[in-house]
Amino acid sequence: MFIARNFVSRSICSATIACLALPNLAFAQKKADTHTEAKAEKKAESYYGPQPAAENVDLTMYARIRDEGLRHSHVMQFAGALADGIGPRLTGSPNMAKANAWTRDTLTKIGLENAHLEDWGEFGMGWQQINTWARMVSPDPEPLWLQAAPWSPATKGTVSGEAVFVDLQTAGDLEKYKGKLGGKIVLLGAMRTTPDITEPLFKRYTDAELKEMENAQTGQGRAGAPNIAQLLADRQRLAALRVQALKMMEEEGVLAIITPSRDGGSGGGTGIIFDDNGANLSRNAQVKESAVTIPNAVMMIEHYNRLGRMLQNKVPVTIELNIETKFTGDHEHGFDTVAEIPGTDPKLKDQVVMVGGHLDSWISGTGATDNGAGSIVAMEAVRILKALGIKPKRTIRIALWSGEEQGLFGSLGYVKQHFGDFEASPIPDAPGTPAFMRQNRGPLKTTKEWETLDAYYNLDNGTGMVRGVYTQGNFAIAPIFAQWIAPLKDLGVTTISPRNTGGTDHLSFDAVGLPGFQFIQDPMDYETRTHHSDMDTYDRLHAYDLEQAAVVEAIFLYNTSEREAMMPRKPYPHPENERQMTAPIPGIYPNAK
Ligand SMILES: [Zn+2]
Repeated sequence: MFIARNFVSRSICSATIACLALPNLAFAQKKADTHTEAKAEKKAESYYGPQPAAENVDLTMYARIRDEGLRHSHVMQFAGALADGIGPRLTGSPNMAKANAWTRDTLTKIGLENAHLEDWGEFGMGWQQINTWARMVSPDPEPLWLQAAPWSPATKGTVSGEAVFVDLQTAGDLEKYKGKLGGKIVLLGAMRTTPDITEPLFKRYTDAELKEMENAQTGQGRAGAPNIAQLLADRQRLAALRVQALKMMEEEGVLAIITPSRDGGSGGGTGIIFDDNGANLSRNAQVKESAVTIPNAVMMIEHYNRLGRMLQNKVPVTIELNIETKFTGDHEHGFDTVAEIPGTDPKLKDQVVMVGGHLDSWISGTGATDNGAGSIVAMEAVRILKALGIKPKRTIRIALWSGEEQGLFGSLGYVKQHFGDFEASPIPDAPGTPAFMRQNRGPLKTTKEWETLDAYYNLDNGTGMVRGVYTQGNFAIAPIFAQWIAPLKDLGVTTISPRNTGGTDHLSFDAVGLPGFQFIQDPMDYETRTHHSDMDTYDRLHAYDLEQAAVVEAIFLYNTSEREAMMPRKPYPHPENERQMTAPIPGIYPNAK
C-alpha cells in the first residue's frame, strides 16, 4: 500500500528550519485526516525530529549479552552446519534451497517465530557443479587446477583437444582465428603477472587506521569524477566483441573455454581460483536467454600462464578435461529466510528492527566468510536474545538474503515488496546501462511498513571482528551509536565512521531513506584471499571474532528495540530532483552572453 506523497514531505519538513511555514498547513490538513494518519505522523516525527541528548544504556543487559555470547556461543556450530554441511550456495541452486530451509528450521529451533521463506522473484537458472578437472596431456603431463564458471554447460563427458590462445582486443583479432577453432580448447583472456607479496595478506586495523575512518570521506571533485559515458562505452565495446567471439566459437564447435583467474588484493591471487561474475563470459549468465552455451571454466593463474607461454612460443599443447555440471531449472525463484522475535510493547511492537546478511555465495569454496559469516553472526545474535528470554518492545526480525552476489536482488526485492520503490524516471538512462550505473530515478513511493522499519544492521565483510560502525552519512545517528559502543571499548569496538560503505544489502534500505548500516570489521584476509575464492572455507573463520560480532549485533538490536524514539533517518530521498538541484546557475560568469 502506498501512502500519500504530501504526508511524507510534511514529516521531513517538520524537522527543518526551511519549512517553518508548514506546521499551519499541516494543521489545516490534519483536521481532515483520519485519526490513524495523525497518529502515524506523530510516529514519523520521532525519526525526523530532534533526538534525546542521552541514551538509556542498560549495562546489566550488556553484561548478560556478553556473557551468553562469549561463554555459550553456538556460532561455530552454525558455521560447520552451513559451510561444511551444505557447502556453496549459488542463488537458484539446490544448495541455496537447502540453506534457505536449514536457516528457517534452525531459527525455529532456537525459538524464533514466524520463520518462513519469502519469494523475491525470478532469478534464472538452477545450476550446480558436480566435478571439474583438467590435465595437460602433451607435451608434458600435468594436472591443471580449474573450476567451472557459474552456469557453464557440461562438456560431453571427457573431451580432449588442442589448446589455442586467443587474445581478443579488437574485432580484427577475431578475424585471425576464423575457421581455426573447431574441436579446440580455447584459452580466452590475457596472461598476467603474479605480483610479489610484499605486504601481509592478513591484517587487522591499526588504531591509526581506525582514527582516520572517523573523518568524513574527502570528496572527489566533479573534475576528478570518472567519465561514466566513457566507462560505459568501453564496457559495451568489449561485451559486444565477446558476444561476437562466443557466437563464432559456438558455430565453429569449440570444445571448451578456459579463462584466467583474476588477482586478489596485494598479490593474493596466486595459487587460487576466484570464481565469480568476473569468471563469467556473459553479464547475465544465470538467465537462459543470455547464457554461455560453450562449457567454460576458470583456471589458477600459474597454470594458465604456463599454457599461454607455451602456445605463444608455438608449442602444441593438448588438454583433456571434463566439466561436469547440472542444470536444475530454467526459471528458478530466489528466496529470503525471514524470522522474528515478536515485540511485546502494545505501542511499539508493530515497529521492526532488522538484522541480516546474505546467505548466498559463489561456488569455488563453501562461502564461509562471504557471507556465511554475516549470516551465522545474525543467527547467533538473535539466539543470544532468545536464550536470555528477552521480550523486546519492538519486533526483532532477521532476514538472510539471496541473489546478493548478482546485484543485491534479495534485499532489493524485499525492500520493494515491503517498504517502497522508485517510479520510473521520465529521463531514462542510456540503453544497456547496468543497474549499478543508473543515475535517473523517479519519485520514491513508500508503503505503510516504511513508517515502522526502525533500522537494519548488516554484516558482510568476512570473519573479522567488529571495530565500529559506518553511519552511512546519517549525521544524527552518530552520537547515539557513540554512546552505545562506549562500554564495548575492551572488545575493540571504538570507531564511528561517517562514511558510506557499499557493496552489500544495507544499501537497499539506505536507498529508500531507511536507516541501513554495516559494521566496520577487521579486514583479515578477506579482500586478498577468501572473498569469492576456493580459499573461502570454514578454516578461514575466526571463532572469537564471530562471537564478538554477534555480541555487538545483539546489543545493537536490543538497544534499538528498547529505545523510546525510533532511530533518526537521513532526509527523505528525492532522486527526481537531483538533476535540477545540481544544475549550474545560468549566466554565472561575468561577461557571459
Ligand atoms: Zn558478500
